Amino acid sequence: MTAARSPRRCPVTAAGPMLGAGVWHEVIRAAGSQCECAGQCGRSHQRHGGRCPHAGLPGYPLHAVPREPAGPVAAMRLGPDGLMALCGPCGEGLARARLRDGRQAAGRALRDASAAPLFEVTS
Ligand SMILES: [Zn+2]
Ligand SMILES: [Zn+2]
Repeated sequence: MTAARSPRRCPVTAAGPMLGAGVWHEVIRAAGSQCECAGQCGRSHQRHGGRCPHAGLPGYPLHAVPREPAGPVAAMRLGPDGLMALCGPCGEGLARARLRDGRQAAGRALRDASAAPLFEVTS
């Protein structure tokens, strides 16, 4: 998925079709047009004071991303308070991290479920 990186796309519409442009603008403005990632993507960004230094650039807009994991329907209902501005690489890193967390949670649930014996063998 590299559609958002096409330099000819309008930075507003490239933010994503799920969010209204007004909400997107509010999120980006509140972030000072700078990526808000403080390590959520998996990198510490320590060299840059703990915050990703990327700013939105023409063709590389910041994304408005749910602060907490949310499904697509829930994400659409979020206001600016529930969203943060992330650059492309941080958005991708965060998505990977959340996917990993989701898998671990699913694995834990599965292990918990399988730890409870459905039947016991007695001899
Ligand atoms: Zn970033
Ligand atoms: Zn980051």
